[in-house]
Amino acid sequence: MSNTPRTSEDDELDEMDMEASRLASTDRDMQMEVFDAVRGQSAFPVQPVRLKPEDTFNFRCHKEIGCWNKCCHGADITLTPNCILRLSKHLGVRPAEFLLSHTVPAIHEKAGLPVAKLKMGGNDGRGPCPFSTPDGCSVYDQRPATCRYYPLGMVSMKMKDMETKEDFFFLVKEDHCQGHCESKSQNVGDYRTEQQLEEYERINRGWVDILMKMASWKVLGGPGGKEPSLQTKKMFFTATTDVDGFRAFVLGSRFLEAYDVSPEAVELIKASDDALLQLAFDWMKNVLFNEPTIMLKEQVLKEAIARVRTDMGAA
Ligand code: SF4
Ligand code: SF4
Repeated sequence: MSNTPRTSEDDELDEMDMEASRLASTDRDMQMEVFDAVRGQSAFPVQPVRLKPEDTFNFRCHKEIGCWNKCCHGADITLTPNCILRLSKHLGVRPAEFLLSHTVPAIHEKAGLPVAKLKMGGNDGRGPCPFSTPDGCSVYDQRPATCRYYPLGMVSMKMKDMETKEDFFFLVKEDHCQGHCESKSQNVGDYRTEQQLEEYERINRGWVDILMKMASWKVLGGPGGKEPSLQTKKMFFTATTDVDGFRAFVLGSRFLEAYDVSPEAVELIKASDDALLQLAFDWMKNVLFNEPTIMLKEQVLKEAIARVRTDMGAA
């Protein structure tokens, strides 16, 4: 144990340790995981046809089309951790400032975890996106993943006994979108490549995994029906939206004394926001699901086990 004075971050870390024990008390069989990337508010326009990468669809969006920019009003856009990093960097601000000025906090409907959504204009949130201009999207090169997917949605599934997840896609056809009437035909795989979606999916995979697993547990029951504590939800929000806040927590608490993080990895997370995000996903998977994505150091583990035993009244 260290003689360093305790900080408020240490109190948070202890809370999270206890949460890991509490949530991990039962073993579960994952049967199905679902995550989608629909931008509209309702599931109604979703076409109930599974599309594979080789399947084709007609769609073209261009400035001369009659519905130009309609989809950029009142859009329901959940920002992924990578979207927040890229947009903040593009605007020349740190994520905390971007969160304050451009997002609203929300609860992910399926997973029950807090996320940040892009703040639309108007008192009712049905106004234009702050990045919408008559010429199109002012942050087009850094536009959020949900805008890149449109008009596709994605579902990931993992059935019990399956080794890997299966992704498939579906078409979102909203009444106002005339792009579907255009003659341009493309396949799903080519469209995804053109929209650079593979890179977003690679960086955000850990975050999507967590949302999918929580969503699955809400439907199928688990973890033992337990809801994460408010403290854990708050930490999930910080870790996945505000890299500077999470970095201050990791470096300002006994986190690095408790977990086995190599010196090279510590240097990396000091310098790289992307590396810190991956640590955040790994840690949250450990806290929420007891996955061995990040290991407690042996002495800390022994003390934690002793604490749980004492709590349970064992000798
Ligand atoms: S970020 Fe760009 S593409 Fe997405 S809703 Fe806003 S203006 Fe439209
Ligand atoms: S075609 Fe669809 S995606 Fe393009 S501007 Fe019109 S509503 Fe938006």
